[in-house]
Amino acid sequence: VQKIQMATPIVEMDGDEMTRILWKMIKDELILPFIDLKTEYYDLGLVKRDETADQITRDAAEATKRLGVAVKCATITPNHQRMDEYKLHQMWKSPNGTIRSILDGTVFRTPITIPSIHPAVRNWEKPITIARHAYGDVYKSVEIRAEEPGVAKLVFEGESGKREEVVVHTFKGAGVLQAMHNTDKSIRSFAHSCFKFALDTNQSLWFSTKDTISKKYDAQFKIIFYEVFEEYKDEFEKRGLEFFYTLIDDAVARVIRSKGGFIWACKNYDGDVMSDMVSTAFGSLAMMTSVLVSPDGKYEYEAAHGTVTRHYYKYLKGEETSTNPMATIFAWSGALRKRGEMDNLPELIRFANELEASCFDTLNAGIVTKDLAGLMEGVTPQPKTSAGFIAAIRERLEQRLA
Ligand code: NAD
Repeated sequence: VQKIQMATPIVEMDGDEMTRILWKMIKDELILPFIDLKTEYYDLGLVKRDETADQITRDAAEATKRLGVAVKCATITPNHQRMDEYKLHQMWKSPNGTIRSILDGTVFRTPITIPSIHPAVRNWEKPITIARHAYGDVYKSVEIRAEEPGVAKLVFEGESGKREEVVVHTFKGAGVLQAMHNTDKSIRSFAHSCFKFALDTNQSLWFSTKDTISKKYDAQFKIIFYEVFEEYKDEFEKRGLEFFYTLIDDAVARVIRSKGGFIWACKNYDGDVMSDMVSTAFGSLAMMTSVLVSPDGKYEYEAAHGTVTRHYYKYLKGEETSTNPMATIFAWSGALRKRGEMDNLPELIRFANELEASCFDTLNAGIVTKDLAGLMEGVTPQPKTSAGFIAAIRERLEQRLA
C-alpha cells in the first residue's frame, strides 16, 4: 500500500519516562506504517535538555514558529529530586513554560469523551474546552505583609512624568496586600488565540470576568475582547457561532446547566481552577488533550498529563504497564490534521480522522487501559496493556483505511 505523503514537516518534540516509551509505540504502530512521516525531531528528554543547557527547547519552539505545527511528548519539569536523579547542571525551567513564552500562546484543554464514560455533570453531552490566559494577574503579583498600622498606596509613574496614586487601605492593625498586573498586548494575544481556535473547531466562545467589581482591570479584558471580536465577527455570524460575554459567577452557573460543546475562555486564575474542575468532572486526566495556539496561528499539540512516572519505574523493572496512550495519540492526530489543513492534503486529514475513529471503535468495544476500566458503564471492559491496546487500535485503523 502507498503511504500517505506530507509536504511540510511537523515539529516533533520527544519527551520523558513512560510517555517517551508510548511515543515510540504510537509512531511505530499507528503512524509510520501509514504515513511517509516528515518531522523535524527535537529531543526534549531531560538528558538532552541538560546536555544542551536547554537550548534544544528554545530551538524546538523557534522551529514551531517557522513550521507552524508541533506535536509534543510530556516532559519532566525538574525539581530537587530530579536534580539528583539526573545529575543535572541546573534546575531547568518547565519546557512548556519556555515554549509558551516564545510562542506567546494560549493553552486549550479538551476532554476526549466516549458514551460509556459519563461526566459527573449529567447534562454535559459534549466536551467543554477551557482556554486559560497564561500570563500575569496573581501569578505575577507582588505582596507585602503589613506588620503594623500604616498606609498602603498603589503608585504609577509614567515615562512622561505622569504620576497616579491611590490609597489601597489605611491599616489600623496588621494585614496583607498585593499588587498585580496585566498588559494590553498579552490580553489582545489571548483574545486572538481564542477567536482563532473557536473558528478552527467551529465552536462558540464564552468569556467571563468580574468587571462589575473590577471596573478598570477586568473591564479592560472585556473591552479588548469586544475590540478584537470585530475582526472575527463576520465569520462567526456566517457560521452561526456566538461570542458570549458574561460575569464569571453567571458563567459558572450556565456551564453547569449547559450541554457543553463550546470554549470557555478564562482569566489566568479562573482558568487554573476551572480547568481542574472541568477535567475531573469529565472523568480522567489520561483523556485530556491540550493545544497551545499562538495569536498568529501556530499550533503545538500535546497530552495534558505528565510523564506517568510510577508506570515508568514498573516498566524499568520489566513489568508490563497499562498506561493510557489516548491523549498522546490525539496529540498526533491533531497535529497531522492541522498540517493537512495548512498544506491542503485531504489524505492526511482523512488519516487523522480515521485514527481517532479507530480509537473510539476500540474503546466502544470495551477494549481499554486499566485507568478507564472502573469508569465505564454499560460495557464490560477488557483491560489491556498499552501495547495490547495500541495493537487493537491498529487492527481497526487498518480496516478503516483499507
Ligand atoms: P502525571 O500526569 O504523570 O500523573 C498524575 C496521575 O495521573 C498519576 O497517578 C498517574 O498514574 C495518572 N495518569 C496520568 N496520565 C496517565 C495515563 N496516560 N495513563 C494512566 N494513568 C495516568 O503527573 P505527575 O505524576 O504529577 O508528574 C510526573 C512528571 O510529569 C513530573 O516530572 C512532571 O514534571 C511531569 N509533567 C509534565 C507535564 C507536561 O509535559 N505537559 C504535565 C504535568 C506533569
